[in-house]
Amino acid sequence: MAASQETTLLGIDVGGTKVALCVARADGTILARLRRPTEPSGDAAADVARLAADARGLAAQAGVALGSVSAVGVSLPGPLDPEGMRVMDPPNLPGWHDVAVQQMLADALDGLPVHMENDANAGALAEWHFGAARDFRHLVYLTMSTGVGGGIILDGRPWRGSTWSAGEIGHAPLVWDGEPCACGLRGCAEAYLGGAAWAQRLAKIAPPDGRVAELAGGREHATPKELVQAAREGDAFALEEIARFNRYLAQLLAQLAFTLDPEIIVLGTIVAAAGERLVLEPVRELVRTHTWARIGGSLEIRAAALGEDQPYYAGVCAALSGVSAGEDPGSS
Ligand SMILES: [Zn+2]
Repeated sequence: MAASQETTLLGIDVGGTKVALCVARADGTILARLRRPTEPSGDAAADVARLAADARGLAAQAGVALGSVSAVGVSLPGPLDPEGMRVMDPPNLPGWHDVAVQQMLADALDGLPVHMENDANAGALAEWHFGAARDFRHLVYLTMSTGVGGGIILDGRPWRGSTWSAGEIGHAPLVWDGEPCACGLRGCAEAYLGGAAWAQRLAKIAPPDGRVAELAGGREHATPKELVQAAREGDAFALEEIARFNRYLAQLLAQLAFTLDPEIIVLGTIVAAAGERLVLEPVRELVRTHTWARIGGSLEIRAAALGEDQPYYAGVCAALSGVSAGEDPGSS
């Protein structure tokens, strides 16, 4: 079925800390929205039942009969099974091991079609349909938050790979036998570029009396947020850390550029917060220097554009990708 502007969708984004639900039109108009703490109970069935109850309440609030909703989309921390129907083992959702979320939600929502995407793929779709990558057909989106998730869209289609693991570039080795990663491997890109790994590093190496520690109320509480703030103020330690981040990020992006030759790479949370001068401009320069002119010269590297609203659009896009698989954004 094709998505027209009148198509009504129900989007659900289950994050590690927050759940975001919305009722929206296919053109991205949000009719009603709800955000609450995830509060996993340890029992996946109870958690899914609560999501379904929220969804029903939200549809009522939007004045939309549940039966007129075309599709439900769920964006979840990966990995999903190779059919995209079950959630295997999301690190932030205790009790969610190999859970048939698609079937459980469909049963709880009167048999509505339910489509699932991992959060990075859903984020890529969201930036493609509604954010920084509109009008492009070949793009990579990197979440750049606590971890480094990736979503790939090639020739106008999400690329999921043979095991639904395409885009897990955050766990490709950047440094052989390097820093330990949360996934159990060593030297992953995420161990150098992820917010959690960076916070762990700052707790060990930030000067205890420096600006970063001061802003955070102690270096053990420091995150990339305080680091960016200190760098903006010209703090030498923070600027050095950002330069290190930029080199690793550019290395990752250069590999993506040579492998996939995308038109645009969209970078999420940490990069969007750090902005042009600290990260985007130096990273573009590094990537240009370390790739062939025909590849790096035309590659757009931009910050994600959806900000706080991204989870709503991720859920909507998970639904949309089920309704209009393979269609161009905006076509009907
Ligand atoms: Zn890893």
